[in-house]
Order: sequence, then structure tokens, then C-alpha cells
Amino acid sequence: AKDGGRGRLHFYSEELHAEAEARARLEEDLRDALAKGELQMHYQPVVSTSSEQITGFEALMRWQHPEKGWIEPQRFIQLAEDTGLIQPIGEWALRQACADVAQWPADVKVAVNVSPLQFANPQLPAIVANAIANAGIRASQLELEITESVFLSDIANTDAMFAALKKLGVRLALDDFGTGYSSLGYLKKAPFNRIKIDQSFVRGLTEPDSHNGAIITSITSLAQALGMETTAEGVETMDELDLIRHYGCSHVQGYIYERPLDREAALERLEQGLGA
Ligand code: C2E
Ligand code: CA
Ligand code: CA
Ligand code: CA
Repeated sequence: AKDGGRGRLHFYSEELHAEAEARARLEEDLRDALAKGELQMHYQPVVSTSSEQITGFEALMRWQHPEKGWIEPQRFIQLAEDTGLIQPIGEWALRQACADVAQWPADVKVAVNVSPLQFANPQLPAIVANAIANAGIRASQLELEITESVFLSDIANTDAMFAALKKLGVRLALDDFGTGYSSLGYLKKAPFNRIKIDQSFVRGLTEPDSHNGAIITSITSLAQALGMETTAEGVETMDELDLIRHYGCSHVQGYIYERPLDREAALERLEQGLGA
């Protein structure tokens, strides 16, 4: 029994070691990914529930690894944050998304995810201003998606950062609302234009005695009273879409309409419309 125990321990530590090595290798690859042009922004349509038109796209990062193929952000954004690579990668994402939105009709917006670590960088307003100016777009075409974790971390001057970004004229969205330590105070603290309702509230919406409907209704009525828009994320089925409309969300994003598309396909979608 003793031997078996030691064997298992040995096995686990070897497995952990292999995991650490794989992570180190991925980190090395990520360092080069930007320079090698392996990162891409894909775009998922955001659709108005009233007009059923595309009003914008959320920019979602993809990594085309030379050997491993497409890597999802869940596997590399955390790594980028742990290594500080999120700063140059996040800046590139902002620039790329602004350059792409410049090719779209002027009333179509792009939403870019901003890591709390980017939010903590005092250079962020200058980086954003620069990306907008270089692309020649209006600031109001750019929306920054920020999660409520920025309120929990010890970012020295959250209020000043929000004010500086707002002054640029960009729009602000509170992402993944309802997943963390959601506090209504956050809505008062920062000048958000949009609340994004996390897909965990959309899942299970169609199940009997789900409370999600009541929660979504109260979020949308609160948002409306505060003059904010609401996007329901991760809508996949017609039943979910019907309920989301019924509960008063102004916008929908999800596989029911479209998965994230590459730049060319997104432009095509805009030209052809959703029905195509
Ligand atoms: P998120 O900001 O909550 O983005 C929404 C995620 O939901 C995306 O996953 C999107 O592809 C997925 N999604 C959209 N519609 C549906 C649906 O109907 N069903 C399901 N099951 N999923 C749907 P993705 O692209 O894998 O991104 C995951 C997360 O990675 C994002 O979550 C965001 O937190 C982060 N991320 C992505 N791109 C960037 C980026 O450029 N910068 C930063 N900092 N984070 C990013
Ligand atoms: Ca997002
Ligand atoms: Ca989200
Ligand atoms: Ca998320």
C-alpha cells in the first residue's frame, strides 16, 4: 500500500510537471504570436431586439497557433494576464478593432474587451485615443467592455479612469453582469451605456420555476430607468430569444444569429443582412 501511495504521488508530480512545461511552452509561443501575426480579431453581431438589425459587433480574440490550430481565449487570455503580455496584446486588439470598424457603416459599433489589468494601466486613455485617431473613427463607435472585477481590485483610481475614458467619448459596457459580486452601487459609480447580462442567466430560462426571468426583468427595467441599454449574451434558441424580448432586453448576442465571424465574413454579414 505504501508503494502504491508513493507511485501515485510520483505519477501526480510528473503530470504536474508536464502541465507546467506545456504552459511554459505556450507562454513562449504567445510572446511571438503578436509579432508573427497569429492573433486575429473575430466579430460577433449584436442585434437590436426591436429592429432585428445588426447595431454592432463584439470583438473576440483568436489565436491561430502554427501547430495547435485555433486556440480559444479561455486558454490564453489568463496566460497573457499572468505574464503582462495582456498590455501589448490588448493594445493591438484595440487598434485592430478600430481599424476594422472604420470599414463599416458609421452607425455600426465595435465592442472591445478590456482586461482589468489594462484598466489599471494609467496609459489606457492615451492608448484608446491613439487607436481612434489612427483609424479615423468617431469615439462613439467604440465601446469598451469592462467586468465588475475592476471595482474589487485595488486599482488606485477607478473613478478617475472612468472619467478619463468617458471624456474621450467612447461608450462603456459592464460585462458579465450578475456573475461576480454584483452590486447596484457599481451602476451608480461608473457612467455605463450598456449592461451585458451574462449567458448563465439565459441558460435555463426556459426551465420551469427558473428565477432568471425575474432577475432579467429587474435588470432591464433598472437599466432603462438609468438610460442604459441591455444585451443578453449567449442566446441560442428561438424560445430563449422570445423570452429575452419579453423581458425587455434591448439587444441580443448569440449563436441564434451568428457565431463570431472573421473580419471579411463580418463585413459580408453587414452588407447582406442577417437573413442572408
Ligand atoms: P465574453 O466577453 O463574455 O465573450 C462572450 C463569449 O461568449 C465569447 O467566447 C463568445 O464566442 C461566446 N458566445 C457568444 N454567443 C454564444 C452562444 O450563443 N452560446 C455560447 N455557448 N457561447 C456564446 P470567446 O470568444 O471564447 O471568449 C471568451 C472570453 O475571453 C470572453 O468572454 C472575454 O472575457 C475573453 N476575451 C475574448 N477576447 C478578448 C480580448 O480581445 N481581450 C480580452 N481582455 N479578453 C477577451
Ligand atoms: Ca465581453
Ligand atoms: Ca460577457
Ligand atoms: Ca465571460
